[in-house]
Amino acid sequence: MLTRRLRGMDTVARTGTDEFTIVLGEVESVGAVGIVAKALMELFSSPVDVEQCPTLLRASIGGAVYPDHGEREIQLWQDADAAMHRAKRDGGGRCVLAVQGADTDVLENVGVEDHVRTMLQRGGFRLHYQLQYHMNGQIRGMEALLRLPHPTLGYLSPDRFIPLAEASGLIHPLGQFAIEQACRQLMLWSKAGTRPVRIAVNVSPMQLMRSDFVSEVEEAILKSGIDPAMLELEITEQVVLNFDEISKRMTELAVVGIRFAVDDFGTGYASLQHLHRLPISTVKVDRSFIQRLCESSRSYPIVRAIIELAHSLGMQVIAEGVEDEDQLQVLRELKCDCIQGFLLSRPMPPEEIQVLLGN
Ligand code: C2E
Ligand code: MG
Ligand code: MG
Repeated sequence: MLTRRLRGMDTVARTGTDEFTIVLGEVESVGAVGIVAKALMELFSSPVDVEQCPTLLRASIGGAVYPDHGEREIQLWQDADAAMHRAKRDGGGRCVLAVQGADTDVLENVGVEDHVRTMLQRGGFRLHYQLQYHMNGQIRGMEALLRLPHPTLGYLSPDRFIPLAEASGLIHPLGQFAIEQACRQLMLWSKAGTRPVRIAVNVSPMQLMRSDFVSEVEEAILKSGIDPAMLELEITEQVVLNFDEISKRMTELAVVGIRFAVDDFGTGYASLQHLHRLPISTVKVDRSFIQRLCESSRSYPIVRAIIELAHSLGMQVIAEGVEDEDQLQVLRELKCDCIQGFLLSRPMPPEEIQVLLGN
């Protein structure tokens, strides 16, 4: 039964009364084990005939991958065995991997990926919006943030599903959905008579690597009928890794009026001088610096330097994750242009934003 779901290069041995050991050949990544585990688990989803009596079996899988979890056979086998016992102890019907000190339920990741795929097909994703403010209290714009409703977990955090979407290629339709939906929403608000505001949408570096990215964004703008100057795309410092290709696409979009902001600035390795060669008009200082702004003597001079340098390059600065008045006061002294954070606005569904936008 097990061999039906395995390849010729894989080996199965019965190593206990109710225990089997499977050696998978040429596993490219730890994630591949999750896929095989899922296929094996499916075998147990329908009853098997034991002496003409339909019987439901339950499996627990433990896995260890060479060389990620160890290099010696015996160690790998022991780790996989221990992981299998943890899977059993946690109720069975699952696969646990021995991942550098912490167990990870691989099926859970596969489950989330399936959920992302299904919700994408069913139109189940939502965008929430977080307002950004100028220092004088005026609304500067808002950031669109993806939300994925989940039947048992409420909403799933983007930090949970974006990396999976990137790994599976689903980031392309998902990212496109976010851009189209944000443009559509902006047009709906405009028709409802609210003041025009800029909308920022996050873009994964993988999206920018696709040759059809420019035409897809242009199409979203045309379809919705918004002014391209109202759309801001948030990129990350990682874009410098594929500088030439990405800068060409960004320039094409900038020519039609779209703006660019660099997100989470300070967490990567890109210098502002380097990024300045791209058509970037806004720098968003990462939340980790703002969090420590008032406590750490190291964070303050970094934020000050980022603001001064960005200004000297003609860029606007937004501080991310502003949570209290003390941080706001320091940012005011440092002449930061705009702020975004729970102090002034939490991400909200579009109906609530519409009320705040007013006429
Ligand atoms: P980000 O682009 O840096 O977005 C800001 C994140 O910080 C949001 O988390 C927001 O809810 C959170 N945040 C804002 N103000 C505060 C604050 O004062 N305190 C704290 N603790 N958090 C604050 P969220 O919505 O969970 O999104 C996480 C990340 O997921 C985003 O970080 C972005 O990188 C990614 N993401 C979200 N939507 C999209 C999307 O449509 N496409 C792509 N590629 N990535 C997205
Ligand atoms: Mg962002
Ligand atoms: Mg950010």
